[in-house]
Amino acid sequence: MEKTIRGNKYIYFFGGGNADGHESMKNLLGGKGANLAEMAGHPKLKLPVPPGFTITTEVCTYYYDHKKTYPNELRSQVGEALEKTEKLMGKKFGDEKDPLLLSVRSGARRSMPGMMETVLNIGLSEKTIKGLIAQSNDERFAYDAYRRLIMMYADVVMEKGNGADVRHGKGIRKMLDEKLENIKEKQGYISDTQLTVDELKTLVRTYKKTVKKVLGKEFPDDPWEQLWGGIGAVFSSWNGKRAVEYRRIEKIPDEWGTAVNVQAMVFGNMGNDSCTGVAFTRNPGTGENKFYGEYLVNAQGEDVVAGIRTPAPVNEYSKNAQSENFTTLEKMMPKLYKELDGYQNKLELHYKDMQDIEFTIEKGKLYMLQCRVGKRNGIAAVRMATEMYAEKLIDAKTAIMRVAPNQLVELLLPMLDPKAEQTNTVIAKGLPAGPGGAKGRVVFSSDDAVEWEQRGEKVILVREETSPEDVDGMHKSQAILTTKGGMTSHAALVARGWGKCCIVGCGDIEIHHENKTFKAKNGEVIKEGDWITLNGTRGLVYEGSLPLVDIDIEKNKSYNELMKLVDKIKVMGVRANAETPGDAAQGVKFGAEGIGLFRTEHMFYGEGSEQPLFLLRKMIVSKTEAERREALNELYIYVKKDIKDTLLVMNGHPVTIRLLDPPLHEFVPHDKEKLHQLSEELGIRVSVLKRRVLALHENNPMLGHRGVRLGVSYPEITEMQVRAIFEATAEIIKSGKKAFPEIMVPVTCTVNELSHQKKIVDRVYEEVCEAEGVKNIPYLYGTMIEIPRAALKAGHMAEVADFFSFGTNDLTQMSFGFSRDDIGGFLPNYLDQKILYDDPFQTIDQEGVGELIRIGTERGRKTKPNLKVGICGEHGGDAESVKFCHRIGMNYVSCSPFRVPIARLAAAQAAVQYPEIKIENYATQGNNGHGIKNPVQKRRLESV
Ligand code: PEP
Ligand code: MG
Repeated sequence: MEKTIRGNKYIYFFGGGNADGHESMKNLLGGKGANLAEMAGHPKLKLPVPPGFTITTEVCTYYYDHKKTYPNELRSQVGEALEKTEKLMGKKFGDEKDPLLLSVRSGARRSMPGMMETVLNIGLSEKTIKGLIAQSNDERFAYDAYRRLIMMYADVVMEKGNGADVRHGKGIRKMLDEKLENIKEKQGYISDTQLTVDELKTLVRTYKKTVKKVLGKEFPDDPWEQLWGGIGAVFSSWNGKRAVEYRRIEKIPDEWGTAVNVQAMVFGNMGNDSCTGVAFTRNPGTGENKFYGEYLVNAQGEDVVAGIRTPAPVNEYSKNAQSENFTTLEKMMPKLYKELDGYQNKLELHYKDMQDIEFTIEKGKLYMLQCRVGKRNGIAAVRMATEMYAEKLIDAKTAIMRVAPNQLVELLLPMLDPKAEQTNTVIAKGLPAGPGGAKGRVVFSSDDAVEWEQRGEKVILVREETSPEDVDGMHKSQAILTTKGGMTSHAALVARGWGKCCIVGCGDIEIHHENKTFKAKNGEVIKEGDWITLNGTRGLVYEGSLPLVDIDIEKNKSYNELMKLVDKIKVMGVRANAETPGDAAQGVKFGAEGIGLFRTEHMFYGEGSEQPLFLLRKMIVSKTEAERREALNELYIYVKKDIKDTLLVMNGHPVTIRLLDPPLHEFVPHDKEKLHQLSEELGIRVSVLKRRVLALHENNPMLGHRGVRLGVSYPEITEMQVRAIFEATAEIIKSGKKAFPEIMVPVTCTVNELSHQKKIVDRVYEEVCEAEGVKNIPYLYGTMIEIPRAALKAGHMAEVADFFSFGTNDLTQMSFGFSRDDIGGFLPNYLDQKILYDDPFQTIDQEGVGELIRIGTERGRKTKPNLKVGICGEHGGDAESVKFCHRIGMNYVSCSPFRVPIARLAAAQAAVQYPEIKIENYATQGNNGHGIKNPVQKRRLESV
């Protein structure tokens, strides 16, 4: 269809205040081509862009469909466009007196930085160079341009363009580069600019000879051959190894193809009245609304990128420690600077986003070479979005779409100073389990971590893996580094919950406990007490103590403004997974509207857990129900306090309290010393204790006696917890405050389990109401959906459950059959070999696990249309997974407190992207019976 409209138009011209194309034609012209057209031809811009033309992406498709040939009309269309270019430039391509030189560059729909090829200075030959010398009056410049052309052409067109498989560092470019380096070394030159004309002439001869010898062909001294060679090479580079690989990672379809931009060359290296630079319409590092950029006098664009010379600032604002004493462009060429400043203003107003601009000044004339949406860090992204909204440049929806949810992490956690990272070497890489940066001295056990911390040391706990017994040491550490484990391993989960920096599955290091060292893959040996620094956002380990930069979110005005917009737009609720009242408070600070998962067992780990843990152990090793009840009665006091404190913090917002989940063996000590200690404390013989502990042993505890199964075997455990919940709630309500608990049963696979537990709940409910003298205690009764069978049988589960919360950690584990604690051993291979594209414990596997979630939600709601559905696995804080949950129609997501802002932003973005999905936000519905929309809950209130 499109084809008939365009006919056989393969070339889009731009220049001289006109353009055939425009910005919205990115699919056909590629990003670069579309923006060149826009800058050159849009009535409000008409910027001085060197004229040229774009060969469309359709030609690329044709090229590959027709054995690397071009459509018939292409040659004549290129000829016509080139003529127009010549006219505007007043030069002729291939002319011996005043030759027009061309650049040939790639440009796909989406930017693929550095993945495809470019050839500059096309049209230079033994003949035309004379004209260039005459026109520029600079022989040195002309020969420098010529040698650059030969090098680029030999590499891009003659070698890579011919499909040669050039192993890294072994190609023609490297060989030619060595020739240049030889001269510099011999003459003691530091910079390329020191080469004399004669040396450059010699170099050109040597280059040509080397090309002939190595590639078996002469360098083509014919401008037209060079042009078509360049065009072909750019199209070929679409299927170059790097580009194909990049597309796979970035999920860019192969069919898109690249456009080719052929453009008149302008030179920033024609003397001291010439320069080239890169600038941003706002500061990409801070987001400040100030023009920011750098330039190099007498240089070509590639020199700025290569970083050989330190660039100078375009204005005072852009000065840094290195460029403090440099002359600004504003001072050196005030008129041209003013012109550039005017253009950058126009561009930002036009595109309504921060632009990254490339410009060149050739002998006092300014040219705009490129503009595109500029990349920015998280802090800058948030500031730009909110300030542009305040300036009325963009609307609220656009503002929230401008920030990638994960960019918020940068605002929430201390991070490693990026400058320090650039100058230090990574000694090991692992999975980025807990973002942010941290540094500390290495310790290898939890006990050491606690001890060192008490001495005032900052430590990083390095272990193969962690277990609940390590929690205290983990808490005391600045960060955690494990050699095993995946993104939902114990270490990852705990660290993320605390917003602590953590790297897991770091197979690059080997721990030697016997001499308290670890050895990195590169041979580096780190001893106990040595400093290391972690970048948990990227999974990188550095030796030594690198500087961190601290961030205080409460003071970040832009962040607070962004989140205000987010909350107006999002429809899904966002809750926090909190294990303690402290976590709950942290979640509220980050904007949680409730608690989606309160893992009761966490009161048995870490600081202050001694007595509850002792009582739990007493209960576990009890022989009879009577003994167990006695222990439970003592434990009950602690459980109730923990729950009450959390309900109070949440002030009527719902708190989903999960009944005890882990297998009991996790709570009993296994080493000899601790067993002896416990036997003394409990007053039972060690042999008896050992037998009881042994009886708890299971081959597959994750699939063993855990979750609801505990409540079925020992109903008194459920009873104690439910009593604690109801009494805590009743007491709060009686004191005039609000509380809204949701009782959640874990690891269920059949509705019969739910009915079994419900009987206990109903009985205790009646008892507590009577004892407390209250008519009703608002609550919901629901289940986690963590087992595939539960998802499939959701229709039945919903007959008893008021709500579902998808426990996607276990659901992923049981769907894939991958152990969540052992995936670190093979996941890197799966990712490397593209068997999986993502870690399924990090982002929901939408095709498989996602299908179970969809089925579970649909079937559940078929039984109970207002069934409240949420998620509380780690995925609840992953932006892509949050968007998936929105599409499924979930009512809320729940995640670690530190990920709450990310989930809020992702939920708002989903609301913008999928406005057709209607969702009821039940997250805030608790409030002690006020504003209740859920008929299930209402029914219960009426019935009591
Ligand atoms: C889950 O399985 O997704 C979940 C939240 O429970 P846990 O991680 O405690 O097993
Ligand atoms: Mg679970």
